[in-house]
Amino acid sequence: MEIVEALVDIPVQSPSTRDFSSDDLEWVKFGNAEHHDDVALIPYARVDEFIIGECCKVECPTRFHIEKGRKRSRGSLKEYKSDEYLEYRLYWCSFGPENYGEGGSILPSRRYRLNTRNRAARPQSMRGCMCHFVVKRLYADPSLALIIYNNRHHVNKSGFVCHGPLDGDAIGPGAKKMAYICDEIQQQTMSLIYLGIPEENVLQKHIEGIQRYCGADAKVNSLASQYVQKLGAIIKRATHELDLDDQASIRMWVERNKKSIFFYRDSSEADPFILGIQTGWQLRQMIRFGHCSLMAADSTFGIKRLKYPLCTLLVFDSRQHALPVAWVITRSFAKPDVCQWMKALVDRVRAVDTGWKVNGFLIDDAAAEIDPLRDIFCCPVLFSLWRIRRSWLRNVIKKCSNIEVQREIFNRLGKLVYGIWGGVNYASAVEELMQDFVDQKAFMQYFKGCWLPKIEMWLSVMQSLPLASQEASGAIEAYHLKLKCKLYDDSHLAAFQRVDWLVHKLTTELHSSYWLDRCADETDSFQHIKEEYIASTSWHRALQIPDSAVLLDEKDCLFAKVQSMKDGNITRFVSNPGSEFAFCDCSWSLQGNLCKHIIKVNMICKSHNNYQTSMSFNSFRELLTTLLTKPTDDSIELDRATALTYQTLNQIQRLVELNSPNNISTVVNNLPLKWVSKKMRNFCRKRSSSSLALPSGSKESARRNGKSRKRRRLSRLR
Ligand SMILES: [Zn+2]
Ligand SMILES: [Zn+2]
Repeated sequence: MEIVEALVDIPVQSPSTRDFSSDDLEWVKFGNAEHHDDVALIPYARVDEFIIGECCKVECPTRFHIEKGRKRSRGSLKEYKSDEYLEYRLYWCSFGPENYGEGGSILPSRRYRLNTRNRAARPQSMRGCMCHFVVKRLYADPSLALIIYNNRHHVNKSGFVCHGPLDGDAIGPGAKKMAYICDEIQQQTMSLIYLGIPEENVLQKHIEGIQRYCGADAKVNSLASQYVQKLGAIIKRATHELDLDDQASIRMWVERNKKSIFFYRDSSEADPFILGIQTGWQLRQMIRFGHCSLMAADSTFGIKRLKYPLCTLLVFDSRQHALPVAWVITRSFAKPDVCQWMKALVDRVRAVDTGWKVNGFLIDDAAAEIDPLRDIFCCPVLFSLWRIRRSWLRNVIKKCSNIEVQREIFNRLGKLVYGIWGGVNYASAVEELMQDFVDQKAFMQYFKGCWLPKIEMWLSVMQSLPLASQEASGAIEAYHLKLKCKLYDDSHLAAFQRVDWLVHKLTTELHSSYWLDRCADETDSFQHIKEEYIASTSWHRALQIPDSAVLLDEKDCLFAKVQSMKDGNITRFVSNPGSEFAFCDCSWSLQGNLCKHIIKVNMICKSHNNYQTSMSFNSFRELLTTLLTKPTDDSIELDRATALTYQTLNQIQRLVELNSPNNISTVVNNLPLKWVSKKMRNFCRKRSSSSLALPSGSKESARRNGKSRKRRRLSRLR
């Protein structure tokens, strides 16, 4: 961010609306490299209109009082700086400044009225608000006012929103009348707004949520409607730019969101920037789905477009979809740095659940540091082929124009990778590949530039690590695609170079979307979202294809055909069936994705002996073969090995069973305990008792009327 050093370089602004706020002004940094402020220059005559606008912000309606003021008389200074004041006023939000909240704990309201000489009456509850600004009427030109505004947000010292409709602990005038809104409902309402659901539907869901706690009431409904409207307005206006300078903005975000950060190191000359984000909800998901299961990394996202690349840690949820449980933004892949943030993350999880452990960690980058994973997560590391497959397929399609050639090259690339078990000489196999496709200049240029220097290293990593399944590959790819779609749909491209924008996108839109997916799946309350979520991986889409739609080439096993379910006239052609490097001609596959047709064909190929098996299955078989040859004689060692293998087999069987219920909500619904609101419980009991007696509705209602009359009388007596 450029710093303006001379006041004359700052334009005078006078927005066309009657009242205006800080949002309507362009802010610049004024000062020098060591000390500078966010400032704007306006006509002095419009200062009051600015203050009115600032008081009427929908997210934080407030008043500003003068905390400090000074004056000089004209002509009293002989020498002065360009920004010297004639009048100086420090305005502070009237919910501040005293009574700072520590860690967001509830602040007591004041029970008495303050005797204050300030003209602006102060609210009865002090919330420690830090929002304040300075208005300087300029000595050099009294018709102008310089506004200095460094704390533009209504938050307390701990960084929490401390008043207004977004303040969860709001107490004070009016707060008693507000219905209790728990985190869960607020998160749900926010998620729905972020997804762009129409306001009336959001409101309906919001009211349903509140009524679980406090019953139906017209007053509650109208307050809820106001709340949803305000939340919508806040979200629409929310900006990632807490400060014009990205680094300062991130520092402020970190200060305010301590609960959602597991590691932070600002960039300095000695150390690169690292920011590790994990919300409370993500932490709970990591504990729940990661324990005794798998984790995976979608590493180096946006290495070309973003300021710093993003690494996402994933777990596989109850549907085996990839769920992001932590985000790390950094350019450093150095071992000591990776160790630091990884350790911080695992310590955080173990602080909640000391016995937490994962059974395996999937990586997608052969250059990744494996030792920290093994040491800190204490589990085996698996390799997923999704990234290399995707990047090869995309480039084959982009750089070779003929589909036959595309098929052939991709097939050969697959053979190269399959060669890791056959004792094939990499160097000569690569050389041969490049000879055979020497006329595909564009692709070969890419291959030579990007892969030739590292292909041997990648292949040896694939050989030494067990390989992950196609379902996992599909799930990680589905996450990757969602991330891409959420991040890159943004209209302002300049934002890609800002970390605060990335953080904002992740923690608002993306987080909300995953939260809602899980909520929809577990509560069955958003059918449409649930269906979309289930169908979001190619594995699940493949399960919808009937076996009868797949036609195999029984003679040479060179291809398979999949008939489209929507249009029986369309047939997809899948070459190289059975392999991860199968090639399909559908549009989804031609965008570089692992499509449902390939997965379905490979599922079927597995039951036919004459087809090749996938890399992941080969890798599993390799492991079992090693196991089989380990005890070399008929000794006690063999008994130990048998016992251990038997145990493992049992464990695997149980694990597979546990993870395969088709619908988690049916499991939840079958649980013995069910939450019903108090009202419902009464209602249920009444209904069941009346069903025992003869149906006599009038008698029942008469009795109820009598009861309520009695209650009314009692309340009048009190
Ligand atoms: Zn405030
Ligand atoms: Zn396809």
